[in-house]
Amino acid sequence: MSVLVLGGAGYIGSHAVYQLIDQGENVVVIDSLETGHKQAVHPNATFYEGDIRNIDFLRGVFQKESIASVVHFAANSLVGESMEDPLKYFDNNVYGTQVLLRVMVEHDVKSIVFSSTAATYGEPEAVPITETMPTNPANAYGETKLTMEKLMKWTEQAHGIKYVSLRYFNVAGARETGEIGEDHRPETHLVPIILQAALGQRSHITIFGEDYDTADGTCVRDYVHVEDLIQAHLLALDYLNGGGKSDIFNLGSNQGFSVKEMIDTARQVTGKEIPVMPGDRRAGDPSVLIASSEKAKNILGWQPARTSITKIMEDAWHWHVARPNGYVEGADNK
Ligand code: UDP
Repeated sequence: MSVLVLGGAGYIGSHAVYQLIDQGENVVVIDSLETGHKQAVHPNATFYEGDIRNIDFLRGVFQKESIASVVHFAANSLVGESMEDPLKYFDNNVYGTQVLLRVMVEHDVKSIVFSSTAATYGEPEAVPITETMPTNPANAYGETKLTMEKLMKWTEQAHGIKYVSLRYFNVAGARETGEIGEDHRPETHLVPIILQAALGQRSHITIFGEDYDTADGTCVRDYVHVEDLIQAHLLALDYLNGGGKSDIFNLGSNQGFSVKEMIDTARQVTGKEIPVMPGDRRAGDPSVLIASSEKAKNILGWQPARTSITKIMEDAWHWHVARPNGYVEGADNK
């Protein structure tokens, strides 16, 4: 039997595939390669290139492979783009998940671990954020992920497919071996942008707003190491296979760091100056997002081990130095 990883060529999905294979699982990967990279797919995984909205393609994979459970990362995930083109997000993310659940029902596959987001909460009424707080997404991306959670809820009621939805806070870092890491094109995320500036690939980093109601005026986020984050997915699979009930868990580190603190950490880790420029606020950015991950610790037994921001930055830097052009040699990686 195999675990099917949808989006296994992407940043977070590729780390899941590596850890599943480390654990001795047979892994089948589906990725459209729209944003993923073929080189990020573990050489021992069985890889199918295709779009999950194509039901005939998806049925073909489920017919050929013997799938025990699904881990679903395949989605568009850029907040800014989701505001400019929300229909693209609803089509790929929501409709894609609808097709996936249809094929899971047809093939009697009964468990799914789902990649969700803190963006389902919107501007929080208090921090740290717990899973019982209201969900009011402030951007279309978050709305699609919340809708995908609801698709799973109703599909469970009708067809008994159990799900665990993991709401990520800010994921960063890379596998310690440096084989895989973060490579988005264009890059929009804070940590890789800071490190591209440290490498001299960008002249500076623009700080999106210095007038927030925080200690230094810049946005505060909760950063979680990608390898710790993936550990929670493996635990969630065990939990579902052991008869656990469908549920939703936050994954973060319960600590907040400002944009300026992240830049200072990167200066210490890299020894580089990293020029900064002040900029306007980015639409849809809440001022402070910090997770309570107590529920994941208590119920899944999650024990994140790489919680220092220095460790996260060091592993990300290791990847950037090893592969300054990411997966695509000679390409412009901005
Ligand atoms: N940010 C920034 N400059 C950049 C990219 C990001 O100041 O070039 C800020 C952004 O406003 C947010 C934080 O860094 O407060 C993290 O942004 P990122 O896009 O990495 O993740 P998000 O919080 O959107 O999931």
